[in-house]
Amino acid sequence: MDLALKPEHKAFADEVRAFARANLSAATKAKTFSGKHYDKDDHIQWQQALGRQGWLAYTWPKKYGGPGWDVTQRFLFENVLAEEGAPRIIPFGPKMVGPVIYTFGTDEQKERFLPGIRSSEVSWCQGYSEPGAGSDLASLRTRAVREGDHYIVNGQKTWTSFAHWGDWIFCLVRTNPDAKPQEGISFLLIDMKTPGVTVRPIIMVDGAHHVNDVFLDNVKVPVANRIGKEGEGWTCAKFLLANERLGIAEVPASKRGVRSLRDIARAEPANGATLADDPAFTAQIADLDLQVQALEMSELRALSTMALGGAPGPEVSTLKIRGSEIQQRITELAMEAVGEYAAPYQPGMLFQDTNETPIGPDHAPPAAPRYFNFRKTSIYGGSNEIQKNIVSKMVLGL
Ligand SMILES: Cc1cc2nc3c(=O)[nH]c(=O)nc-3n(C[C@H](O)[C@H](O)[C@H](O)COP(=O)(O)OP(=O)(O)OC[C@H]3O[C@@H](n4cnc5c(N)ncnc54)[C@H](O)[C@@H]3O)c2cc1C
Repeated sequence: MDLALKPEHKAFADEVRAFARANLSAATKAKTFSGKHYDKDDHIQWQQALGRQGWLAYTWPKKYGGPGWDVTQRFLFENVLAEEGAPRIIPFGPKMVGPVIYTFGTDEQKERFLPGIRSSEVSWCQGYSEPGAGSDLASLRTRAVREGDHYIVNGQKTWTSFAHWGDWIFCLVRTNPDAKPQEGISFLLIDMKTPGVTVRPIIMVDGAHHVNDVFLDNVKVPVANRIGKEGEGWTCAKFLLANERLGIAEVPASKRGVRSLRDIARAEPANGATLADDPAFTAQIADLDLQVQALEMSELRALSTMALGGAPGPEVSTLKIRGSEIQQRITELAMEAVGEYAAPYQPGMLFQDTNETPIGPDHAPPAAPRYFNFRKTSIYGGSNEIQKNIVSKMVLGL
């Protein structure tokens, strides 16, 4: 594969880099490289800057207000931003519900919802999973009963990332309990300020607040907020999940993770030298590096297929499996590198405003919390076991 960049692509990468350097706050960037938690402002200020530039919805076609970039531009954009320490774009608006709305929504829905997603003025969250309906999503029980030009929605969503920051939630709801499970589901957009919506935090093992329970108690939702026909929500759900799995491999962040492992190895003492002089440790980093490069090639293959008009197929499940395993491996090696300094638990060190002094080197306190937090990557977006089922059935035909 010829990976030499054309001059116009080099110029494009320079433009993205200059933009990031001018618009990404130093505090946010520092959090990225030190493994600290972002707060809402870090994400929103950065996303709104991208929005003003017309780059937040960078995967969208021009017709819907995206930049209409080719695969190489998208690839460069993601990589340059990761190198510059930008937080990952919260995907629920620009990468998930936006494409559903412009693909399945009415003209009125496109006009109403797409501008706020493109600018990040409106934040979204994803209401798919429920207690008892994660892997087996089609068994979801949140019920929407039609009353005139509204639905009355009752149920519970769980593991809802960033619901506490969300202005809107896109939900899968059951509109027909008598139909086959997949046929009785509809796709509804719900304003989080509607009476009857309650968000309850779930605190992660590293002290972070990312996920929530969302309770829906007699929530009145206009029928005009339904995307697609009643009972055809599963079509939107599957389209969205394929897009979700394509973006979830997080290759640019893993490349940054490998670079940071090399920095840690250079800083960590080992028997009078540093870990960077230990062939056993550096061989593990080199192996990981190769795995990241191989994954990047596979992701580019999937993107090229899409660029030629194809849809992401079941093979994107392999990207999700490999991408999540690599992310977990990076956190494992970081913890191995700091050795006993991974043991002290200093949750304050993960937040910006702390007077705590790190026990051990600066990069030690986040190592164990990140290791534990990253166990999530093989669960969210459809667990890796489920992805393996998809590969075995749809790709290998077993
Ligand atoms: C950090 C985090 C953020 C999340 N954010 C969101 C969000 O924003 N919105 C949202 O809707 N959801 C979100 N989720 C939910 C996520 O999609 C589900 O957790 C996931 O789909 C698994 O479902 P479950 O938790 O119900 O586990 P279960 O489905 O109960 O699975 C439990 C275990 O059994 C295995 N298993 C289940 N069925 C099979 C099978 N048929 N074959 C083999 N193994 C199987 C699974 O792999 C898993 O290991 C998030 C989850 C996490 C951890």
